[in-house]
Amino acid sequence: MRNFVILCALLVAGCSQRPDFESFPKIDAHAHLETSDDSFVELLEANHFGLISLVTRSVGQALIEEEFNYASELHAAHPGSVAFATTFSMDGFGAPGWEERTIEWLGESFDRGAMGVKVWKDVGMTFLDTDSSYIMIDDERFDPIWDYIESRDKTLVTHVGEPVNCWLPLEKMTVRGDSSYFAENPQYHMYLHPEGPSHGTLMAARDHLLEKHPGLRVVGCHLGSLEYDVDEQAKRLEKYPNFSLDMAARICHFKVQDRDKVRDFIIRYQDRLLYGTDIAVRNSDQPGESMARMQEIMDGTYRDDWEYFTTGDTLVQDDMVVYYRGLDLPVEVLKKIYSENAKHSYRLPG
Ligand SMILES: [Zn+2]
Repeated sequence: MRNFVILCALLVAGCSQRPDFESFPKIDAHAHLETSDDSFVELLEANHFGLISLVTRSVGQALIEEEFNYASELHAAHPGSVAFATTFSMDGFGAPGWEERTIEWLGESFDRGAMGVKVWKDVGMTFLDTDSSYIMIDDERFDPIWDYIESRDKTLVTHVGEPVNCWLPLEKMTVRGDSSYFAENPQYHMYLHPEGPSHGTLMAARDHLLEKHPGLRVVGCHLGSLEYDVDEQAKRLEKYPNFSLDMAARICHFKVQDRDKVRDFIIRYQDRLLYGTDIAVRNSDQPGESMARMQEIMDGTYRDDWEYFTTGDTLVQDDMVVYYRGLDLPVEVLKKIYSENAKHSYRLPG
């Protein structure tokens, strides 16, 4: 009888082959670490988690350097657990000296360990040219910068535009995360700013950049702002072999689409999708606060996402879709989206 029970247990384990959360190698390819308290790294290491911290600012070189220093110091102290991408300032864009200054700063950033360069959404949505048009990411004045990044074999990380929900009234948005964010940040809610660029205009500019620089590795943050439809993501992945997508803060949009279609999409593009969350750990006066914050993330977001990708269970979420089914992805696919693609896209060692 006892042997029978053990045999049943083995058969069940053999069928499900559910990988183990703690020991499975994982990278969160989209995080924001702005802290000098590195106590949380211990918890990352215990759970086989690495992070890529994206420096995200577009004005004020002093502010950029402050954020850069947090990331580069964490990387220097924990090179196996923390990698990072730098960014550059738009101050003086188009004026004499901007290009040279920017390239010099990026060179210094790479020499100090940055694996990529992040460009934030305010390029395309905030900065105005001298003729009052919006400065777009495919603007030719950026070309020497993208060429330089490519020449150093680094990665461009683009956050272009916003979710399509941003162009809808709050009550029409498909996920609660978006409606609460845009209720709190009306300055970014494009439905209220019809004078601003359309979602389509922003996507076209990003696509044009990909077309102009086929040798440049580009990671599109937040599913490339094409979160609403895996078919739209697939079109770009087919057309631009240099393009990959991180899932940061958009996994909830997978859940509101057809489950089997999303699963097929992830399996088909298993080499081009990076797990990421957009979590932030910031400086605090409280000792050990960063550890407490990371514990909260580990038990919350990271575990929830893991359940979604690794099980076929019916899960409950406090969002507009209350019940959804996990994707139960094959282990080989999980290995890629959880770490191998991030290593490849950012040329991480090891
Ligand atoms: Zn982010």
